[in-house]
Amino acid sequence: MPRILITGAAGFLGSHLCDRFIAEGYEVVGMDNLITGDVRNLEHLFPKQEFTFYNQDVSNYIHVSGPLDYILHFASPASPIDYLKIPIQTLKVGSLGTHNCLGLAREKGARILVASTSEVYGDPSVHPQNEEYWGNVNPVGPRGVYDEAKRFQEAITMAYHTYHGLETRIIRIFNTYGPRMRLNDGRVLPAFIGQALRGEDLTVFGDGSQTRSFCFVDDLVEGIYRLLHSDYPHPVNIGNPSEITIRDFAEEIIKLTGTSQKVVYKDLPKDDPTQRRPDITKAKEILGWEPKVARAEGLKITYEAFKQLPDEVLYKQEHRDFERYVRK
Ligand code: UDP
Repeated sequence: MPRILITGAAGFLGSHLCDRFIAEGYEVVGMDNLITGDVRNLEHLFPKQEFTFYNQDVSNYIHVSGPLDYILHFASPASPIDYLKIPIQTLKVGSLGTHNCLGLAREKGARILVASTSEVYGDPSVHPQNEEYWGNVNPVGPRGVYDEAKRFQEAITMAYHTYHGLETRIIRIFNTYGPRMRLNDGRVLPAFIGQALRGEDLTVFGDGSQTRSFCFVDDLVEGIYRLLHSDYPHPVNIGNPSEITIRDFAEEIIKLTGTSQKVVYKDLPKDDPTQRRPDITKAKEILGWEPKVARAEGLKITYEAFKQLPDEVLYKQEHRDFERYVRK
């Protein structure tokens, strides 16, 4: 039975990855310090013999006993408001946390896949974004702590590959959604669905002409699974190229939820990228991968899951007071 360590296991993506690798017959070691993760995402796995959970901060020295064949490094805050609220932890987990994972991979002789992001492209001047584009990042802006940590992560991962011959994989993840996203983490999709469920107006930032391209989580997990088992060490974009403006996205959520609320416009956060869409030519060629789940279908599944959440989650303040965090 192959054994895999997944950092950020209690998070949105981490927990879906744990499910997938358990289903594929792996022994899974999940690690999380629960700053932004939630153990409830893993509760159903605790009775399983093939699953172990370590409550550890990957930015500190980590120890995992026994052999490891693979490591997936998915620990990181992943919402713009988190970056403002916990900037130092965000920097540390992308840099020191990655260094620790690479060191562990070397010691265990494991192959490692690190979760990078479309944020390495910053506010892109090339559209759609392909892997050859170097990006347009403001290092000292509010997103700099995430973007630069992830850029460093790619650099150190490549260095371990070229200098130590470590088997490494780098995925650049574009906006992804699905069940188990934190409802009030400030990201646009849970924000809109949460607002609709609470009977609040939907808050569009700026004039809503900025675009994003949303990928359903099952498609992303399939892409990760294929990339891990490929022999390709360079970065690969995984995301859904179907692009939409945030204003139109709000309208889709209004239709989906049947809410009688309307759209209200708020200030655009600093350095908010104006457009984002992955060029997935590489993923198609190298992994034979492309997304299968259309937005209408994925949104329906996600909405059904969010409807089941208890009121204590639905009404939890967390980042709903986002204005406190938006730096002008
Ligand atoms: N956004 C919005 N209303 C919200 C939350 C986000 O209009 O309540 C916008 C945000 O300004 C950005 C887009 O939606 O342009 C996606 O934001 P998110 O935080 O989900 O992720 P990003 O892709 O910016 O990292």
